Amino acid sequence: MRAQPKASHFIDGDYVEDKDGTPFDSVYPATGEVIARLHAATPAIVERAIAAAKRAQPEWAALSPTARGRILKRAADIMRTRNRELSELETLDTGKPIQETIVADPTSGADSFEFFGGVAAAALNGDYIPLGGDFAFTKRVPLGVCVGIGAWNYPQQIACWKTAPALISGNAMVFKPSENTPLGALKIAEILVEAGLPKGLFNVIQGDRETGPLLVNHKDVAKVSLTGSVPTGRKVYAAAASGLRHVTMELGGKSPLIVFDDADLESAIGGAMLGNFYSTGQVCSNGTRVFVHRTIKHAFLARLKERTDAIVIGDPLDDATQMGPMVSMAQREKVLDYIAKGREEGARLITGGGIPNAVNAEGTYIQPTVFADVTDDMTIAREEIFGPVMCVLDFDDEDEVLVRANGTEFGLSAGVFTADLTRGHRVADRLEAGIVWINTYNLCPVEIPFGGSKQSGFGRENSLAALNHYTELKTVYVAMSPVQSPY
Ligand code: NAD
Repeated sequence: MRAQPKASHFIDGDYVEDKDGTPFDSVYPATGEVIARLHAATPAIVERAIAAAKRAQPEWAALSPTARGRILKRAADIMRTRNRELSELETLDTGKPIQETIVADPTSGADSFEFFGGVAAAALNGDYIPLGGDFAFTKRVPLGVCVGIGAWNYPQQIACWKTAPALISGNAMVFKPSENTPLGALKIAEILVEAGLPKGLFNVIQGDRETGPLLVNHKDVAKVSLTGSVPTGRKVYAAAASGLRHVTMELGGKSPLIVFDDADLESAIGGAMLGNFYSTGQVCSNGTRVFVHRTIKHAFLARLKERTDAIVIGDPLDDATQMGPMVSMAQREKVLDYIAKGREEGARLITGGGIPNAVNAEGTYIQPTVFADVTDDMTIAREEIFGPVMCVLDFDDEDEVLVRANGTEFGLSAGVFTADLTRGHRVADRLEAGIVWINTYNLCPVEIPFGGSKQSGFGRENSLAALNHYTELKTVYVAMSPVQSPY
């Protein structure tokens, strides 16, 4: 098995196996090949991971932020040096083409370690509050043991985006990757140890929806950060609430992307394609409802079809491949069901809609698909598909499109393409979303906050804002004169 790790879990600085856990296979989606065989964590493994994190955390928190940052920055350097190897593993784990993983996965994780490693020395300060003689000051204190639970679309990135702000703030982390993509996080654990991270501060345990609750409900866990779907988010939030634990919820979306008639057409089409087809459409922030002004609809669709049909689908480890398979057979079935529903409900198929020829038949490939004449009430316009299915909807004016764009329970992201700067800002202001892009789509550098509103979640990853979600404020009041007591 070509990606078999030394053991399933990584606890207290080393690999750990417990064969009492339910066995499961890690499958390379491009061929159906079993590339690793692992075991889900037993309750004993969960206990061991949380105990290791709890034991290691106080000493780590007592270090200066600069000392902690030095280790994270070293981890960033190691990740960049080993980018090819990590990207290949990410490709095996997810099926995403190497062309993407080489620029978007380990490198994004490394950015996160570098950013938080660098800024924390200045960003973890508190305030001094003068009180006319007396004074108070605030400290940013870590929360303790944090749990991260990941989705399968960006396994390495998600692990790093949660772990970098958690560690720099003085916390310990127990991370559970998605059962579909268990491999990348183990490599990150190895790299953090190589960078000098004391043992016990970053632990990886495997498992699925049965394992997650053992972490979320554990009495020694102070915070849970989930990346996953809205239904999972509801369950995890409810469980965390029963223990009054802190939460960050990075959930799903059905984001609007609005293309006005004055937009640069090639750029708007490029943005819409990136925002629907990158990672075979398995991106939470994708702009899957593309509202195109009626006057440019025909030109938009014709060129979109031309460019979509030219996408190179194939072996993800081939540098020329632009689109790989979906993460699993189950996910492909789900997407094909949505495509069938789109047809049934009267959407017009422009291109795609099936399984491509000339690729490995055991792989979970699917064609990039475009529907036109989609209306707001269709299932494909309302539900998150999480596959390469673009819905193009027509609109006539700005007020109308804003009401329709906001007419969803989700609020993760949104985009607008227009040459009119004032309109761009006006529309961005009115779109109900955690992040809005003007004249681009899906760019998420570590310097900017990322996260959703409405049912898409709350809390923010990346940027200085993430530090607020891994620390709490402690206030110290200092009296400078004797107590004046009426008693
Ligand atoms: P999922 O909700 O099925 O699973 C997410 C994780 O939660 C997995 O690790 C799973 O094992 C775990 N889990 C499931 N039930 C649990 C429970 N009851 N308690 C604890 N843990 C539990 O999501 P998925 O299919 O892996 O990923 C796709 C979803 O993730 C999509 O909805 C997508 O939009 C969302 N997503 C969001 C972001 C974001 O940043 N907002 C990023 C990527 C993916």
